[in-house]
Amino acid sequence: MKYSLDDTIAGIATALGEAGIGIIRISGPQARSILRRLFRPAGQSGPWEPESHRLTYGHVVDPESRATVDEVMAVWMQAPRTYTRQDVVEIQSHGGATVLRAMLTLVLAAGARLAEPGEMTLRAFLNGRLDLAQAEAVLDVVRARTEAGLQTAQAQLGGALSHEIRQARAALLEVLAHLSALIDFPEDEVPPQLIRPQLDEAERLLQGLLRTADRGILLREGLRVAIVGRPNVGKSSLLNRLLRHERAIVTEIPGTTRDLVEESLSIRGVPVVLADTAGIRDTSDVVEALGVARSRAALEQADLVLLVLDAGQPLTDEDCALAAIVGGRPAIVVWNKLDLLGGDGEQADTLSVPLPGVVPEAPRVAVSARTGAGIEALEARVWELVMGGQVVATTGREALVSNPRHKAAIRTALNNVQAARSGLDEGLPADFLTIDLTAAVNALGEITGETATEDLLDVIFSRFCIGK
Ligand code: GDP
Repeated sequence: MKYSLDDTIAGIATALGEAGIGIIRISGPQARSILRRLFRPAGQSGPWEPESHRLTYGHVVDPESRATVDEVMAVWMQAPRTYTRQDVVEIQSHGGATVLRAMLTLVLAAGARLAEPGEMTLRAFLNGRLDLAQAEAVLDVVRARTEAGLQTAQAQLGGALSHEIRQARAALLEVLAHLSALIDFPEDEVPPQLIRPQLDEAERLLQGLLRTADRGILLREGLRVAIVGRPNVGKSSLLNRLLRHERAIVTEIPGTTRDLVEESLSIRGVPVVLADTAGIRDTSDVVEALGVARSRAALEQADLVLLVLDAGQPLTDEDCALAAIVGGRPAIVVWNKLDLLGGDGEQADTLSVPLPGVVPEAPRVAVSARTGAGIEALEARVWELVMGGQVVATTGREALVSNPRHKAAIRTALNNVQAARSGLDEGLPADFLTIDLTAAVNALGEITGETATEDLLDVIFSRFCIGK
């Protein structure tokens, strides 16, 4: 991606499909003149002078053929009070792919360049309207699958995370300033009382953030749960039962083309991606073996495994083989078909059957996918395991680390701060401490963008859609 800011870019900002309206967004110095060239306000014949931030009704007209392309509402927004801090134009037309493409073609012919994915937000970042963590939060808001995930993203967009990162970074920069003053006197030891308070403060902040990371990442990315069990134990039925019970399927998850059924749902605000190894049900032994192979693949990716067993039947070798594959991973043993036992969930005999391979402390739950009995208890178990009994953060104001990239950078920074602290205790000279602390400051700067390289920006913004 080239980082020019002085040309004018355009893209379709809404999803392409049939919809009430669709929006073309234009950003850059020519935005206004392009709008004036293509737009005819209703009931006006002479030249039109758009007024900033004012929505105007009219038509987009092809300047060559003079044909009307669509009836639209258009707005010119003068820099800097805009998304990109440049002049921005938005044209709201009817929401059909053909209409939008026709209008975009005119906009490009009038002098705009097609925007790269994420380029609008990149401009907002380069022009200082958002820092990098906030820019990434834009995408998280768009992609949020549950309300808890959305609130985490909103807090980050609002700058909650950036604020804490900046605080830690400022404390470290202060230490670096003290150290650079000492570097002219290399013989002297660093007086610890001079810099220890700031090091402590930075360490406290970073540790606090790191503690939120697992929960935050989960709220953003969802918990990957694999449903594993031999054919006919009721995996698909269980999946359907969970989906129906929560009724909170939010979106299809892009990029899940693996050979598994995947569904997303939310269990008490926690986004969950359920992978079912159903569909593995041919008769030949070869395919049976393949089933085990696919279960393995689902397991590799899983944060949690639901090992499903048939409560109406004695354990088979295959059950035990699967249990062994689950091994020490976080798992819940689900005895399904509770209804066949005519029981009420207190099937102590069945539930206590030892399962080779599965960690003995894995919780066991008896359910009936058919009647729905025990499903809530199962969900409660999933949630307890995930949250360790904590209540999901839904305050919206809290700075949660929800992005693995941020977590890794904080980890790096914290390690460097701790190395500097031990260096200080051992009486190392100032320039040793400076090396560690500079690394910490740079790692934190990669989160908010002060020290982000072009390669990193490329990786981040290329994940956006065009027009965002
Ligand atoms: P899968 O191969 O593990 O995905 O199993 P299915 O979900 O396709 O279920 C296999 C069979 O077991 C079907 O005939 C289901 O109707 C039946 N089944 C599933 N769950 C239950 C249950 O809780 N109770 C009873 N009685 N039958 C069930």
